[in-house]
Amino acid sequence: MATPTDRKRPTLRPQGRPAPKLIFGDLWEYDPAPETADPKLKPRYELFINGRWVAPASGRYFDSINPANETKLAEFALGGTADVDAAYRAAQRAFTTVWGRMPGGERAKYLFRIARLLQDRAREFAVAETLDSGKPIKESRDFDVPMAAAHFFYHAGWADKLDYVAPGRKVAPLGVVGQVVPWNFPLLMLAWKIAPALAMGNCVVIKPATNTPLTALKLAEIFQDAGLPPGVVNVITGPGSTGGAIMAHPTAAKIAFTGSTEVGKTIMRSVAGTDKRMTMELGGKAANIVFDDAPLDQAVEGIVNGIFFNQGEVCCAGSRLLVQESVARLVVGKLRNRLRVLRVGNPLDKNTDVGAIVSRDQLNTIQAYLKAGVEEGAVMWQPPCRLPPKGFFMPPTIFTGVTQSHRIAREEIFGPVLAILTFRTVEEAVEKANNTAYGLSAGVWTDKGSRILKLSTELKAGVIWANTFNKFDPASPFGGYKESGFGREGGRQGLLDYCKLT
Ligand code: NAD
Repeated sequence: MATPTDRKRPTLRPQGRPAPKLIFGDLWEYDPAPETADPKLKPRYELFINGRWVAPASGRYFDSINPANETKLAEFALGGTADVDAAYRAAQRAFTTVWGRMPGGERAKYLFRIARLLQDRAREFAVAETLDSGKPIKESRDFDVPMAAAHFFYHAGWADKLDYVAPGRKVAPLGVVGQVVPWNFPLLMLAWKIAPALAMGNCVVIKPATNTPLTALKLAEIFQDAGLPPGVVNVITGPGSTGGAIMAHPTAAKIAFTGSTEVGKTIMRSVAGTDKRMTMELGGKAANIVFDDAPLDQAVEGIVNGIFFNQGEVCCAGSRLLVQESVARLVVGKLRNRLRVLRVGNPLDKNTDVGAIVSRDQLNTIQAYLKAGVEEGAVMWQPPCRLPPKGFFMPPTIFTGVTQSHRIAREEIFGPVLAILTFRTVEEAVEKANNTAYGLSAGVWTDKGSRILKLSTELKAGVIWANTFNKFDPASPFGGYKESGFGREGGRQGLLDYCKLT
């Protein structure tokens, strides 16, 4: 039966009818607008230990490929336990002899220099990041690289003011920190980890993800250009086992991990019983909650930004949409119209909204979830969309008719897939949003400030956005509840995770 809302909007098609064949691209085509900056790639990257480029003890290398066209970008050293040992020795020496003793005001100068050098090479870094990860250039150019530089600037500002991090108490660095990061924000996650550690006076051994090592080695070039003392940051590339060696190494006073909950649990088991400090930034299954009084067009933009931004490969992605029943049809209709005009394709093109999935394995994982969603009875919808002939691409996908027991509503998919559920009351929205093992982020869309305040206390999520989504600032701490991990990155709280308090 037609609702009053449907009558006002005759252009909305009833659910289930096939999408029209006419698509945006048939009406007109944008001129190609590929980014032209030179990413300055080397054919081979070695390990970065003690301020120098070092061949791996194994003598072995692995390829990193461009997920948008499946061609090899460069090869990277396969670091092993001997290399991890050498990196920790260099880091411990740098900590004891130079960095741990240096006044904060001096450390700040290095951090400022790193931030400025990153800004100087921003376009080169953006292209390198897009080539390695498949994310659209407008994201790497406008978000990842500037935000990474912002983290170095922010922490440079703290380095000579550490007495104010915990007023009335003294702070001291921990020593050498072992860090491992994932592939979804390769450069930004490095900045989140390295900048606070260095500002506090710690030294670092860090591993980028196996799929996306490129910008970590380019950042090491910047460390050299900035004159950072040898051994203060050491970059070891390699597979998960190399990450395991970094996390379990006896020299590490603290370990900081960002990645999946499954690997986070493995790491916690491997260091149980040691006195290592730990920060775990793990998975998420955020609810984006839209009430009937919300500005719906803005909410639809927020939903799109929340899950289709960066191909949904975002730990805090709004992968569950909870929409109030009275506006559910309207919101889903608007969302479909919006998805029809998203451009999926060459990540280097400035017009592209949805780029390539990082790897074939990840694409297979996402497709297995699509199959599970359909088999469990949800209704899948994808806009008509021409995918490039090569590379790991998929259309943005929404599921309606989802229940809380469906795997697509419970498990982290890490792809451009949105599970849509409905609710009637505020209490039901809170209960459904919190009905997850995760607790990293959430979004609330409503006109009522009182409702935002109520939900911000009742939602069990580390970050809650109101009438916006995916907003970040280096001064704002980020981190999770429950299986999304513990510890904070960013802000004063993030610094506290890198120091001893006396
Ligand atoms: P992943 O857990 O597979 O890998 C993360 C990193 O850990 C990689 O560098 C990998 O090589 C390494 N690794 C793998 N096995 C290891 C082991 N046994 N010991 C030590 N290191 C090991 O995660 P991913 O697929 O690269 O990234 C996606 C995941 O990261 C998602 O679950 C996402 O939610 C999470 N993530 C969380 C945040 C956050 O801030 N909470 C941010 C970004 C990504």
